[in-house]
Parts: sequence; structure tokens; C-alpha cells
Amino acid sequence: MTFAELSTYLDRLEGTRSRNELVKTLSELYAKTSPDEIQPVTYLIQGRLVPFFEPVEIGMGEKLVIASIAQAAERPVDEVTRLYNKLGDLGLVAAEVSTKPRGKVPSITDVHARLMAIAAAAGAGSVEKKRTGFASLLHDLDAASAKHLVRMALGRLRLGIGDATVLEALSFAKKGDRSLRPTLEAAYNRTSDLGLIAHTFWTEGEKGIAALKVTVGRPIRPQLAERLPNPEAVIKKLGNVAVQPKYDGIRVQIHKNGANVRIFSRNLEDFSLMFVELVAAARKLADRTLILDGEAIGYNAESEEYLMFQQTASRRRQHGIEEAAASLPLVAFVFDVLYRNGKDLTAMPYSDRYAMLKDVLGDSKVLTPAPLTTTDSAEELTRTLLDNISKGLEGVVVKRMDSPYQAGARNFNWVKLKRTTSGQLNDTVDLVLLGYYFGKGKRTEFGLGALLAGVYDAEHDRFDTITKIGTGLSDAGWREIHARADKLQVKEKPARVRSLLTPDVWLKPEVVVEVLADEITPGTNHTAGKVGDAPGYALRFPRIVSFRGADKRPEDATTVKEIVEMFKQQGKRPVAGQ
Ligand code: AMP
Repeated sequence: MTFAELSTYLDRLEGTRSRNELVKTLSELYAKTSPDEIQPVTYLIQGRLVPFFEPVEIGMGEKLVIASIAQAAERPVDEVTRLYNKLGDLGLVAAEVSTKPRGKVPSITDVHARLMAIAAAAGAGSVEKKRTGFASLLHDLDAASAKHLVRMALGRLRLGIGDATVLEALSFAKKGDRSLRPTLEAAYNRTSDLGLIAHTFWTEGEKGIAALKVTVGRPIRPQLAERLPNPEAVIKKLGNVAVQPKYDGIRVQIHKNGANVRIFSRNLEDFSLMFVELVAAARKLADRTLILDGEAIGYNAESEEYLMFQQTASRRRQHGIEEAAASLPLVAFVFDVLYRNGKDLTAMPYSDRYAMLKDVLGDSKVLTPAPLTTTDSAEELTRTLLDNISKGLEGVVVKRMDSPYQAGARNFNWVKLKRTTSGQLNDTVDLVLLGYYFGKGKRTEFGLGALLAGVYDAEHDRFDTITKIGTGLSDAGWREIHARADKLQVKEKPARVRSLLTPDVWLKPEVVVEVLADEITPGTNHTAGKVGDAPGYALRFPRIVSFRGADKRPEDATTVKEIVEMFKQQGKRPVAGQ
């Protein structure tokens, strides 16, 4: 298939307002894709060259793209810049100045390979190489293709194709319905690589998919925690449980293959560079191959103090890591071992996996087992919870001792119990920003007033609105939101968003914020959990507590299912002050 042909699909996908249509168009594209092409196609439609966990980026900023467009079109850089100021989208600029391609029309695999070469260019002369390589690609492509290529290079391909949409489209392309999505999803949970799944599915069918294994070097999608309102409910539902502190740090999945150690974040990005001391510590462990799951946090062993999430997260700025590692050393509390010396341990009961940790971690001071106690008493669980909160921790995570590690699942194998800012048990929710309204009065200064926010409907792979948020941010916070939101503006409602309201500006669902609200109520204005004519759910008095930053993708936001659960549990929550 030529890249031009792919571009016609990208145009169609871009113009789609409904998710069903998105799946249909994508499956039509897949049906025409050969086994050689399916892997690059799968990455490219998500604006990537490789899976998310591989740190390969095209690495071109606006300036370099402008220079390439100018070179390809043989126009002065100033003229291209002027056009950019006028059109506001370098993709449109590239299309506007595009000259008719003369040579052979490049195929998808050709374009992908050339982009990979651009991504690989590093060191002296690399800027020149990237510019010339990209210019020559633009030169060979038609206008629509140039538009999409530029957006890919800048990370601005806004098609809104989520992982679940890809999996569903693959199922439709082969089977004509969505019935294979669960099988494909299970493989995705084990491998986190959509391109690999697509390719395996095309070449080896369902059997090949079932045979895809947990592998060191490919992150496993993390197991997640459900919520329950209080310790009594936990004991009633789970009986005897393991209780661990809930550290407010950064989730880390540590993969060791001999001296080669990689660390993946909760949303499957490679964070190895940021966690140098964890990498060094993992290298020293005796086992040859390992996959460990834990939470990294700034911890002062002498004063026994934990750092706040924001401080730990400041490490994300990948500059000065060495200095940061010296002044703000991190440790990881490891709570699980998923793979050891060639063996996948995920099906084993948690009690057995946890028992291994001591042996695996030995006397490492940096990688230590997360402490664990067991109890079947609500009073004891309450005491442990309060004890952890008084130590400055977020709360506890309670786990079933007999549970396997269920990659990518959020279920009652793990339950989190947290504090609120006021010290009561009342959990926050993670919402995705979907749009905003222009502000009135003082807010106009920040360019936006209320935010329209939503939750994730995992079953339908879409975002439903649940509230408008107007408070909870400092002036600096509003400015930051504005700056971030500006980059995510889209002209029309994204296909995966379901909303009865129309904000002044729609946003590509990307920014996740942590929100505290007084209660969940039935709401006729919102679509969260809405079926037919019945009302959906809404949040009362929402306020933003923090930005979740890069550790949560929009699909990691609180789900509709969780909201329904929380609504049911609400009546059982102890009333404040009692
Ligand atoms: P939440 O992000 O609120 O859904 O809570 C789940 C997160 O808590 C996990 O993704 C981990 O990053 C974090 N966490 C902290 N301590 C633990 C622990 N002992 N076991 C599991 N997860 C933990």
C-alpha cells in the first residue's frame, strides 16, 4: 500500500465524529493491509514509529520541520513561517506548498523506514541529516500525505485512535465483528505492543495471539486497584487480606535481562534514564532475568520520611538526573515479582510471589520489599490504615493473597483505601479534560473559565462527561492548564467523546487531573453511565487536587464502572465528623 493511500484513510478517520465509524474505517484499512505493512501502519496511525515503550522519537521540533518544508518546496524559510502564522498548523502549511511528486510513490514501509532513519540520526550533523531526510520525504509525497507526515513528526496527529479501537478494528477486519477483542486484549495486556499483535494476528491468526508470552523488555500492562468505602467493606468482601502501605510515588516495572535493565512507567513508557539508581540496583540482583513491580519514591531512610509525589515527580525533567540522584535519592518498594529466570509467575498466587521477593532482592538497600501484614479484622485494618496515613503515606493497598497477577485488570484482587485532604476516607477521581468554556470576570485573564471533564468508558472505549470544574486551582495552575490545553485544541468534538454539552473549545482527551468532589449524583446534563433516557452521573462540587502528569494516559482515568460502584457505595460511607 502506498503512503498516499494510507493518507486517504487518515483523512477519513480525521473527519469521523463517531467511534463506530472510527472502528469501521480502521477495519477497512486493515483489511487492505498486508502482513509486511500491518506493523508500521499500526504504529503510524497512533503517530508512532514503534510501540509506546520503545524510546524512539522522530525528534523534530517546529523549527526543523519548517526548515524541511522550505527545503522541499524550495521556498524561503520566512515565507513558510508566515504561512504557519496564518494557518496555525504546519501540516496544512506542508500541504499548501507541496509540489507535485515526480518519482515513484513511496510505500508505507518505505516511509516508515525513512522516518526510522531520521529518528536514528544522532550526534554531529544529525540536525542536517534530519532536515534533509525529512525534506526528501516531503518532496516525494502528495499534499495530503505531507500534511499527515508533518503532524506525525510533531506528535500532532489527532485522530483519537485509542488502543481498544485498534484491537476492535483488527477483530472486525478478520472476523466481521468485535468477538476477538477479548483475545487480542489479553495478548495486549501481556505484551503492550499493538504492532506485534497486529502482525502476529495477520501471520499466525488466533493461535499465534494466544501464544504471545510475557517477555522481559516488553512491559506488562499493570494490575490496578478497585476501591471500597471503608475497612469494614474490604473485610466483608475479601476476608483475610494482605495489607501494604500505599506509596504516593511513581509506579515502576523493572525489567532485568543480565546487565540490561529497563524501567517502565505505569503508562508503558521507558523511564530508565530517570531512575539511574534503580537501574544500577537491579543490575546487582543475582537473578539473570526478572520483572518486578513496585513504586519508586523519594525516601530519606534516616528521618524515615517520604517525599510528596510532586517532589518525586520533579525527577521527570530528565535534566540533571545525576545531581538529582545524589540530592534526592529514590528507592523502590517492590510489591511483586512477575517473571524470574525465564519463568512467567503471573498465574501463581500472590502469597507465593511475595514470598519470593526477599530472596530476589537480597540485601539491596534501594530495592526493598513493600512491607506486608495480613488480617481479617476490620479494626486492625483501620489501625494499619491510620498508622500509614500518620506516616505521611497515602493509605493502604489491600490484596488477595490467592490472586494471580491480572495484567491490565482493575478488580477486587487489589483494593485501595486512601485518605482525603481532610483526613477522612473519601477517594479522589482521575478525570480527563475534554473541553473548556471561556471565562468571565477574573478568569478571562487565564483564557479559560470552567473545564469540561469526563471519565473513561472502558467497555465502549469512549469518554463520557461527568462534570464542569471551576475551582481548585491557583492562578498559576490555571495558567498551566491553559498552556497545556492550548496544544490540545481541536475544531470539533473528538469521535470518542460522548457529550450533551458543547464547550467553547474541544480538547483532545489527554490531560488527566485528580479531582475531589463532595458526592456523585444522578445528572441529566452528563453522559457518564447514561443509558437511553435515564440520567447519567455527575459530580457535585468538584475541585482539582493535582495534575496527574505523564503517569496517566486518558484511558487510565477513572472509569464509568468505577463511578457506578462509587455511587452505590456512597450511602455506606461514614458521614463526615462521625
Ligand atoms: P491509583 O493510582 O489511585 O489507582 O492507585 C494505584 C496505584 O497505587 C498503583 O498504580 C501504584 O502506583 C500505587 N501503589 C502504591 N503503593 C502500592 C502498593 N503497595 N501496591 C500496589 N500499588 C501501589
